[in-house]
Amino acid sequence: MEIQSSTIQVSPNDIISRAIGFFESSQYIDLIKLAKSYGVDVYARSENDFNASIEFSIDPEHFSIYVNPDHAETRRRFSIAHELAHYILHSDEVKKNLLVDRDNIHSLSPEKEAEANELAAKILMPEELVHKYIENNDLDGNRILSENSVRKIASFFTVSLMVAILRLKGIGYELPYIAFS
Ligand SMILES: [Zn+2]
Repeated sequence: MEIQSSTIQVSPNDIISRAIGFFESSQYIDLIKLAKSYGVDVYARSENDFNASIEFSIDPEHFSIYVNPDHAETRRRFSIAHELAHYILHSDEVKKNLLVDRDNIHSLSPEKEAEANELAAKILMPEELVHKYIENNDLDGNRILSENSVRKIASFFTVSLMVAILRLKGIGYELPYIAFS
């Protein structure tokens, strides 16, 4: 029996496996190609105080992500992954609002923004790739990572130190106190 639905039904696991697929073919998770694989285009928008947004256009129906090209690569990557997470998790709200971004006027509820942050970190650092990298590079001392290892992991996955710390803790690694600014 076929269930008719106009909403996009993509599971978070689907995007994580696609991210792993990109990584396996090129040793890099290309977020623009990842977005494109869902038919979502990523554009640069260079404006003061602009971070990133996901926007929906009605005719023809299309989702686009905008990101500030003036920001550092790690920040841009997190922003694209965050907006892509909204596409996966909250496409109905994006369709309704036409525009979702992180400023006060256009953001979703704090819970939904937190969900998007969590999925973004999983897209950028899929658990199985993190384990593999740690294992292949002998970084794991009984699931305790040194500061140097955490820095290596962050740079390997092209994420900020803060994102790496939160993600590694989320996966269950023990980390020393690391100062970052
Ligand atoms: Zn958001």
